[in-house]
Parts: sequence; C-alpha cells; structure tokens
Amino acid sequence: MKDKITAAIDERRQDLIALTVDLIRFPTINPPGEAYTPCAEFIGKRLGAAGFDVEYVRGEGTPGDSDRYPRTNVIARYEGKGTGPTIHFNSHIDVVEAGEGWTMDPFEGVVKDGRVYGRGACDMKGGLAASIIAAEAYIAANPDFHGAIEVSGTVDEESGGYGGVAYLAQKGYFSKPRVDHVIIPEPLNKDRICLGHRGVWWAEIETEGSIAHGAMPFLGDSAIRHMGAFLAELEKELFPALDRKQTRMPVVPEGARRSTLNLNSVHGGQTEDFQPGLPSPNVADSCRLIIDRRFLLEEDISEVKDEVISILERLKQERPNFRYAVRDLMEVLPLMTDEDAPVPTAIADAIREVFGKDPEFVISPGTYDQKHISRLGHLHDCVAYGPGILDLAHRPDEWVGIDDMMESAKVMAMSIDTLLKQPRR
Ligand SMILES: [Zn+2]
Repeated sequence: MKDKITAAIDERRQDLIALTVDLIRFPTINPPGEAYTPCAEFIGKRLGAAGFDVEYVRGEGTPGDSDRYPRTNVIARYEGKGTGPTIHFNSHIDVVEAGEGWTMDPFEGVVKDGRVYGRGACDMKGGLAASIIAAEAYIAANPDFHGAIEVSGTVDEESGGYGGVAYLAQKGYFSKPRVDHVIIPEPLNKDRICLGHRGVWWAEIETEGSIAHGAMPFLGDSAIRHMGAFLAELEKELFPALDRKQTRMPVVPEGARRSTLNLNSVHGGQTEDFQPGLPSPNVADSCRLIIDRRFLLEEDISEVKDEVISILERLKQERPNFRYAVRDLMEVLPLMTDEDAPVPTAIADAIREVFGKDPEFVISPGTYDQKHISRLGHLHDCVAYGPGILDLAHRPDEWVGIDDMMESAKVMAMSIDTLLKQPRR
C-alpha cells in the first residue's frame, strides 16, 4: 500500500502545483473576509468532481458576516465502501493582508525554483492543497477502503475562527460520531507534529482619573500616571516572574517555552487626531491598556488573572484615588494532545517512513483552530501537521516548497491508511 500511495502522489505533482497556485489566486484576505465564497466553491467543485459529497455552511451572524462578506465554509465527505472511522483534514482558507515588502504580486501564485510564492502559500493554502492531493491519491490507490475521508476549507482562523471552525463545531461537524480524527495542515514544518498550543488571556485594563485644566493638573487626577504606576509594577515584578515560569510543553520557538505577556496597545487622554488646530490642555480621565498573556499547561487561568489583579489591588491601597477596571476580551485554555493518541502516532510512523527519522513533537506559541475542535467538538484526537516553514507565515514573499508539499502529502496519505484500518473507538 505504501508504494501505491507514493506512486499515486508522485503522479500528481503538477496537479499539486497548479492547485496551490489556483488557491493563492483567491485573495481571501481577512479582515474583511474577501473572496471566501468563490474560494470555497472552487474547493467544493474540485472535490465534488472527485466523488465527495459537498456542503457549504455560512457562519451566519458571526463576527464580520454580511451579504457583502459572507463567512462561507466548505465541507466535503467521501464515503468508503464500508463502515469505519472518519478522518478529517481541516484548513483555513483565509489569509492575512499582503503588507509591504513583496517583490512580486502576492496573489499571482508565482512558481520559481521549486517553490510556490504568494500570500497564504505557507499559511496555509500549500497545506490545504497537499491534503486534497493526499485524499484524492489515497482514494485512487485504495478505492475499496472502509470509513470516510473529509476535507474542509474554513474561514476566519486568522481572526479567531468564530465564523469557521467554531461555528461548525457548535453544529456537530467536529464531533463523534461524525468524525474520529482531525489533522490541521498548518505550516509547522514537514517533519514536526504540533500537539497543541499555549493558553491566551486578552484583557483590557482601564485606569480612571478626573479631568481638569492641563495648566493646573493638581486639580485633576491623571489616569495616565496611574497606568504608568501599573506598568512600572509589571516591569519590576510580573515580567521577571513570568520569565521564570518554564514549561514542559515543547513550544517552538524555544523562547516561547515560558509564560509571556505582550502589551498590545495603550491609550490615554484625548485622541491624538486633533487636526486641524491644536489639542486643548486636559488631564486624562481614562487610560486603557490591552494585554496579551500567553500561559502554560502548568498554570491555571484564575491564577493568571490574579497575578495582574493583585498588582492593581495593591496600587489601590498605595495610591490615592487609584481606580481600575478589567475587561476580559478572550480566553483560550492551553492544549496538548497526548503523543500516544492515534493521530500523532499514525503521523509519526508516516514521518519515519517518508523521512527515515523520528518526528519532533512541538507546541505552537499561538493558538489555532484546534481549540474549537477540542472545546466545542469535544474531539481530542487532533494535531496540526503540514508543509511550510512556520517562520515564513505572514511575511512578505511567503512561499511553500513543492518537495515539502509532496512529502507532506505522502505522510498524510499514509496516515489516512493507518487510521482507517484501525477499529473505531
Ligand atoms: Zn494558519
């Protein structure tokens, strides 16, 4: 079977390149969610022609969904000749904006020197194309298989996945009995298996003051100075404490193998956009800070919040009139699929077969759609595995290697074979 699979994929090299180029040519930029429907329909037509049953599901009423920018997802399912498990490949079709610094058209799909270039080539249209080729090649090589194979193209991963995988997971598309195993072909490098991600707490912290004439600031109370005091405490206390929190999670890059905190934005006082004219002199009565705290399996989210709130509470004791508010913006718990679960085991064996070496098990520093499959779909046999070099994602002149896609497609197809031959659990 391995030789048949390898041969079926080798035959499809030109098809894989052309498919990747075609996918890149849909400028599925998010935000706002451009060209989702034509891209989803393109995938649906292709898989429909290959014998899949195709369904389109719009993430009605999810953030950004409108008639101008519908959140169109595609789910395709190929039923085998008998009952058995279902393996699902889920890719997001949205890409981030092209940005500056490109030396070519980011939506042309330039093929050069064994690579396909374009926005989304690496993250993750190359992975989507590899999974489609893997599924089609597997079906051709083993037409009498039992079980089912699904491929989906979903939206909005780059903005949280609410109109895509989260919406579908709420509707049962990522749960048993429909699906048993999920592979997300995100670009984590072709010989690595990504078991999950760190947790996230995004919050807005506001300090309050009272407005007064800027020439007599002593008559007011500056919210910006209160925020400054809070930031000073973070520098003195929290940042060093987070640096010391190491994790057993194999996060890549290694710098992220600990707790981190980013200060996304800070704004206090009047708007700086005062043209024409000059700003009026005022003491700031409000200052807002957005924080992005990434946390570890070893940490509890309530402790993560308490670390911040205890500093604010202490300042309330120490500083006259210190008032604050904390608003949660996003919470995602850390995830790590067991290395011995069926999907990582099957992919690991296939990597040994294709590359002649052991895979590396890794954890992503940021989250991706696996969170919804786990939390909303209650399906835990899920990992990210796909071609593409992680560091190239979201950069100018993003590319994916053609050989990398070919080898990944072989790993995916061999994994399908292993997983479909196991009894359902
Ligand atoms: Zn991605």
